[in-house]
Amino acid sequence: MLRLTRRDALTTLAGGMAGTLSIACRNPSPRAPAANPGAGETAPAYGEILKFDIHSHVFEDLPALADMLRRNNFRTMNICNNGTDGHLETMHRIAIDLCGKYPDLFAFASTFDLTRINQPGYTGDVIRWLDGTFKNGAVATKIWKDVGLTVKKPDGMYFLPDDPIFDPIYAHLAKRGKPLLAHLAEPIAAWLPLDPKSPHHHYYSTHPEWHLYGKPEYPSHAAIIAARDHILEKHPALTLIGAHLGSLETDLDAIAQRLQRYPNFNIECAARTRDLTRHRSEKVRALFMRYPDRILYGLDGAWQPYLRDKPPTDAERQAYIKRLDQRYRQDYDYYAGSGTMQYDGWPVEKLALPRTVLEKFYNQNARRLIAFPG
Ligand SMILES: [Zn+2]
Repeated sequence: MLRLTRRDALTTLAGGMAGTLSIACRNPSPRAPAANPGAGETAPAYGEILKFDIHSHVFEDLPALADMLRRNNFRTMNICNNGTDGHLETMHRIAIDLCGKYPDLFAFASTFDLTRINQPGYTGDVIRWLDGTFKNGAVATKIWKDVGLTVKKPDGMYFLPDDPIFDPIYAHLAKRGKPLLAHLAEPIAAWLPLDPKSPHHHYYSTHPEWHLYGKPEYPSHAAIIAARDHILEKHPALTLIGAHLGSLETDLDAIAQRLQRYPNFNIECAARTRDLTRHRSEKVRALFMRYPDRILYGLDGAWQPYLRDKPPTDAERQAYIKRLDQRYRQDYDYYAGSGTMQYDGWPVEKLALPRTVLEKFYNQNARRLIAFPG
């Protein structure tokens, strides 16, 4: 989810104060990636390339947001999440309405109930529910980290995502040609002591319920990742998109191994571009060049007024749209630009991906794997 952190605020402030430096950073000498397919291609201008943000949570009709998306040549997949918070009907109703009003901007992914998992007839009910969402336009289905870390069996054990109870659901998704967007596990930082240098320090400091260090009753990161891999093995016809770099954000080799091993595995980078900036740019670029058909763009901005006690103000709405616009541009600068930049206060060499790879990352892979309307 997108939040303005103290670091964002400081970066904005620093950007305003260091005018000369930021001008120098914005005008780096052009540099093509060496020995890469597509080397020498010029990156398309930001507004020129069609872009899909396949990880978005927008749950209010905001005409100014629709305008911003159109102006920037962006489309989104709006994700219903989650299956345990009691808002299942509400979030789907809003997603369906938005998709109906703006079919080119707000395609949506459905999700399913997890609160009745221990009741008889559960799997059949979920399949019927999902079919209803597909009838209403859902193009994919989301499964969230509460499978593995929250939802329990009657004996108190956690359901892992490869539990046989989910097999008919995964098989049904495969049969219907609907991808499974899988946010399973968490960044490895959730299982480690709080570290101020981690990109996830703010989140785990403010969400202690998801900080699992010193809580051995929870399944390990490795156990949940192994269960996710097991789904890929059991359901080779299922297209699985691992949200948030497949929760392997610190280990690009582990991502590559899985992309190599499982042809039905793909990843998206929502809320983890910051993690990519912590790796050597050469190594990140090599991953994109080696698997250009398997990586999709996402941001994970969240606007969910139904979770609030009071409706948001217009100023909050405008601020959200502005932040989203800035984030989209910052990400594009990192992936498409050349030279160096500050990404959330962290100095990084931009990836300078060639046009061919950018087109796959920003739109062709999304179009191939997800049947977007229009
Ligand atoms: Zn999300």
